[in-house]
Amino acid sequence: MPQEPKKRHSRQRQGKRRAAIKLSVRKTVLCSNCQAPVLSHTICKTCGFYKGREVIDMAKKKKLSEAESDSAKAKSVSGGNADKNTA
Ligand SMILES: [Zn+2]
Repeated sequence: MPQEPKKRHSRQRQGKRRAAIKLSVRKTVLCSNCQAPVLSHTICKTCGFYKGREVIDMAKKKKLSEAESDSAKAKSVSGGNADKNTA
């Protein structure tokens, strides 16, 4: 059987504990290529650069994502998700 608390904690103590529970703003650095704010040790989402070289071809990726969204739209029009659109 687990231990039970002997006495209840005061509201002050409860508040002090909960005061430390919070979200923190993540520190960002500026991209060396496009000067956009980026999380450190992370590839830039806007230009695809990391450590001064291009890791992801963003133009290519944009085209791919557009093609994917077009195909997804075509699927929803041709059927399958017809129930979702009406509901
Ligand atoms: Zn960048």
